[in-house]
Amino acid sequence: MIVGLPKEIKSDEYRVALLPVGAEELTAAGHKVLIEAGAGQGSGIADAEYSAAGATIVGQAAEVWAGADLVVKVKEPQPTEWPLLRKGQTVFTYFHFAADEALTRAIIQSGSTAIAYETLRDSRNNLPLLTPMSEVAGRMSIQEGAKYLERPQEGRGILLAGVPGVAPAEVAILGGGVVGSNAAKVAAGLGANVKILDVNVDRLRYLDDIMPPNVTTLYSDRHMILDSIARADLVIGAVLVTGARAPRLVRRADLARMKQGAVIVDVAIDQGGCIETSRPTTHREPTYVIDDVVHYCVTNMPGAVGRTSTYALCNVTLPYLLQLANKGWRNVAAANVGVAEGVNIDRGRVTNLAVAETFGLPY
Ligand code: NAD
Repeated sequence: MIVGLPKEIKSDEYRVALLPVGAEELTAAGHKVLIEAGAGQGSGIADAEYSAAGATIVGQAAEVWAGADLVVKVKEPQPTEWPLLRKGQTVFTYFHFAADEALTRAIIQSGSTAIAYETLRDSRNNLPLLTPMSEVAGRMSIQEGAKYLERPQEGRGILLAGVPGVAPAEVAILGGGVVGSNAAKVAAGLGANVKILDVNVDRLRYLDDIMPPNVTTLYSDRHMILDSIARADLVIGAVLVTGARAPRLVRRADLARMKQGAVIVDVAIDQGGCIETSRPTTHREPTYVIDDVVHYCVTNMPGAVGRTSTYALCNVTLPYLLQLANKGWRNVAAANVGVAEGVNIDRGRVTNLAVAETFGLPY
């Protein structure tokens, strides 16, 4: 099989979907690996390292798309890539279809098969290809939140940790999954007062057991959300209903209850965001202000720490990529229901219920 690796073209995306060790394992298994020149640059990986691992470097992305049976990427194909997708080709990457109808329709039209990192499940029913990026984004959300709480960044001028004699910041985290728990860990480590809200009581029980004393768990109902955002200096949006658009937990009118200069980091923006006023932003222009509340809604947060994220991502994607290349996705999906759940669109048909329901498409 020919496996292709185009360079990521999303704004400020520095990750790459394959390490040289991956190229080596694929070529050792008898596959050809086509890599666009400079694909690893953002993560500090030179073309020569891929060549040494047996890959073929090509000058243009179009050559990769035209030649590959299986394309491995990090972010969803961008509009300029849509015409390059081919019927019968398999694309293995993050898609986040439910947040992007135009992308969904473009992939349907292309006749390709889309295997989405974010809905593939393992035997414990976890989302193993989402987890490492959620760990990165969760930890990073506090780092970014701390930065935008600074007054020159339009925040309230609050130091998360406080100082002796001055209270630390209040952090409210909506969703206590991977993003939420990683955010809580970092915020708590800095000394902030942290509240995690979730609808899964078993999850809250677990978090209550493992988190330090400056983390409180709360059931996520409308009253508790309103109370928590009103007290918070920093709100982290970290909810997920797998495959579906994120539920809007904070409405526009609710911002009036928040403190002036408070910061929202809506990590769930890649699934549409859990705050009504969230809209996707980029690393170049990460924030905007509505009703005196700073919004940070970067859809590819881990891209900014590309090296850490590339290694974390490739560690978990490579075993699946090898299986897909060695056996073909149909055989892998037939034997593994978790991989089958990753198949969101197959040759013009939506195969993920949540995506179909989101856009009223046949399933
Ligand atoms: P997860 O499944 O581990 O956690 C989601 C949590 O949300 C679960 O514990 C669930 O019970 C909870 N939840 C669901 N509905 C809720 C509600 N109404 N109130 C409170 N909690 C609720 O998911 P995750 O890995 O933590 O990912 C969270 C989001 O972050 C996803 O949308 C993911 O795609 C996104 N993400 C974004 C970036 C980025 O760069 N912006 C990076 C990584 C992940």
